[in-house]
Amino acid sequence: MKDRVVVSILALSLAAAGCSQQDAEPAVDPERDAPGVEMEASWRTLSADEVRDAFTYANYQDVRVTHLDLDLAVDFETKTLSGAAVLDFERLREDASILVLDANDLAIETVEAYADGEWVVTTYQLGPDDAVLGSRFEIDLPDGAERVRVAYATSPEAEGIQWLTPEQTAGKEHPFLFTQFQPLYARTMAPLQDTPAVRITYDAHLTTPPELVAVMSARQDESGVRDGDYSFKMSQPIPSYLIALAVGDIEFKAISDNVGVYAENYILDASAAEFEDTPAMVDAIEALYGPYRWGRYDLIVLPPSFPFGGMENPRLSFMTPTLIAGDKSLTNVVAHELAHSWSGNLVTNSNWRDAWLNEGFTSYVENRTMEALYGPERAVMERALDKASLLRDVAEADSPALTALKMPADLEHPDAAFSQVSYAGGMFFLKFLEERFGRDAFDAFLASYFEEYAFQSITTEDFLAYFEDRLWAEQPDAVTKAEIDAWIFEPGFPESIENPQSDAFERVEAQLNAWLGGGAVEGLETGAWTTHEWLHFIGQMPSTITTEQMAALDARFDLSASQNAEIANAWYLKAIPAGYEPAFDPLDDFLVRVGRGKFIYRLYQSLADNERREWAMGVYKRARPGYHPIAQRRIDAIFAE
Ligand SMILES: [Zn+2]
Repeated sequence: MKDRVVVSILALSLAAAGCSQQDAEPAVDPERDAPGVEMEASWRTLSADEVRDAFTYANYQDVRVTHLDLDLAVDFETKTLSGAAVLDFERLREDASILVLDANDLAIETVEAYADGEWVVTTYQLGPDDAVLGSRFEIDLPDGAERVRVAYATSPEAEGIQWLTPEQTAGKEHPFLFTQFQPLYARTMAPLQDTPAVRITYDAHLTTPPELVAVMSARQDESGVRDGDYSFKMSQPIPSYLIALAVGDIEFKAISDNVGVYAENYILDASAAEFEDTPAMVDAIEALYGPYRWGRYDLIVLPPSFPFGGMENPRLSFMTPTLIAGDKSLTNVVAHELAHSWSGNLVTNSNWRDAWLNEGFTSYVENRTMEALYGPERAVMERALDKASLLRDVAEADSPALTALKMPADLEHPDAAFSQVSYAGGMFFLKFLEERFGRDAFDAFLASYFEEYAFQSITTEDFLAYFEDRLWAEQPDAVTKAEIDAWIFEPGFPESIENPQSDAFERVEAQLNAWLGGGAVEGLETGAWTTHEWLHFIGQMPSTITTEQMAALDARFDLSASQNAEIANAWYLKAIPAGYEPAFDPLDDFLVRVGRGKFIYRLYQSLADNERREWAMGVYKRARPGYHPIAQRRIDAIFAE
C-alpha cells in the first residue's frame, strides 16, 4: 500500500474475550539450528507464540485454510454481498476439532461441513464483536471434514467495502463499489482466517447489475462480456488482505500486451497516458529481482474517495485518481504498487509487527525502479522527501517503540505499523546495507531472497537469519550486529542513515533563502521545476512565513488552486498554521473532493490543532458521506479528541 498516515491511534483494547493465545502450539526450541555451521546464529528464531498474529482469532497453527470459493450477489440496493463461501482447509494438528475464523459484521445464515461425500449442517459459535478484531467464528468440525460452507451476507456498514452512489462517481449514472482489506478488513467481506500468515488461492463468482463490470485481484472474467455474471481465479496463494473487488461502470484500455488500465470513462485515456511507463517498470524490476510471477499486471483508477495512494492487490493494483497529474510526476506510486508483486505479495510479513518487510522493501524497490527509469537525480529527490517525512513521523510518534522497524508486541492496531517508519525507514535500512555490501552483492542477495521465500509469509527474524547466512557471511566486516540491531530493534534511526544530497534541492533552497532574505518573488526561477522541487520548496518554507509572503507566492504561482494534489496538499499544510485565508476556500473544495487519507488526515488534524476546529467540522460534515469508512473512522477520532 502507498501512504498510511498515523494520526493518534484510537485507544482500542485487545483485551476483549477470545483474544487469548490458548490455541497456539507450545514454544519450539529457541536456538536456531544452522546445519553444518559451527558458529551460533546471531538472532534467535521466534517461538510459535511469538510469531502468532495477535490480530486474528484464527487457529491457523492447528487448522489452516488453503482455498476459498466465493459465490456472491452484489446488491447496490441493500449495500450487501450475499451468498456463500466454501473454505478448504488442512489439519496441522490431527485431533483438531474446530476451525476458528474471523468474521466482522457478517450475518451468518447456515454453516455446513463436507465429510464422507456429503454436506451436513454443523454447529458454530459467533463471539462478541470486538472493535478491532470483529468476532471469533468457531465452527465445529465433524470427523473427516475437509471443507466448510458458510451462507452469509455482509453489512452495509462493512468497513472494508465502500458503496458509492451514482452521485459520488464521475459519470453520475451508476453506483460503484470497491474494497480495501489491508490490514484486517477482509473479514468484513467473508469469514476467513484473516491474517497475513495464512495464504490461500481463490475462485469467485459474482453477479452484479448487468450494466456494470466487476474486476478482482485475480485472473479476470474471460468472457469479456458485460453481462453482470463474472468468474475469477487466483491460482497463486495470497494472504486474505490481497483479495479485492471493484464493481462499476468501468472500461479497459491496454497499455501493452500485458499491462492495462481500468477506469471510469472520464479518466481512462488520461490514466493510460499517465501510466504508460508501467511496462518499462515491470522490465526494470524483473532485471533487478527476478521474474514477475503473476501473469498480467493491470491498474484500476478508483473514484476519489479511495483512501490510499494505491493498494497492491495482485494482478490489479487499485490507484487513487490524485496520481493523474498530467506529467507522470507522481507515478512512483505505480512503481511502489508494482514492486509489491515481489515484496509483500510474493514474500509477505506473517505478522503486522513486521510490516516493514512489506513496505520498507517495497519502498526500496520503488526507488530503485525510479532510478532505473528516470535516473539518479529523481530517485535522490524522492529519498530526500521521504527522509523529511520519516523524521516528521518519528518526531510525532505516539511512543518510541513505534519508531523501531520491528513493531512492539503490544501494538494496539495494525495501522500503527504503517507510518513512514516502516516505509522510508525500511528503505533507508536497505540503502544502508546496499552501501555497506556494495550494490552488486546486495542486488543478488535481494533477488535470491525473493526466490527463497516466494509465496511464503515470514518474520523479521527469518529475514535476519537469511541475511546472516547469505550476505553477512560473505562479508563479515561490512556491518556489526550492533548496527543491525540499532536499525531494526531500537527506537529512532542511527547516524548511518543516508543523507540524500540533491543538487536540485540545494538550488531550490538557495532560491528560497534569497527570497526570504528580501528578494522579489519575481526573482524565483521556477520554470524548470518538477513537482519534487515544488514540494521541497514548500516543505522548506519556515513556520514564520507571513501571510503577505504566502500571498505573493500565490499571486505568482496560483498554489492555492494547484491541480497537482501533492503540491496543493503541501501548500495547505503551510497555509493552515499561517492563517492564510485565501487558501481556505480551495482547501474546502479539496477536502470534499479528495478522500485520500495521506492528505486529509493531516489536513484535518492541522485544522483541529490550529483553532480551525469548527470550520473543519463544518467541511467534514459535508465531505464525510463521500469518504471511505476507513477514512471516516480516522477522522471521527480526530474530532473526538
Ligand atoms: Zn505499500
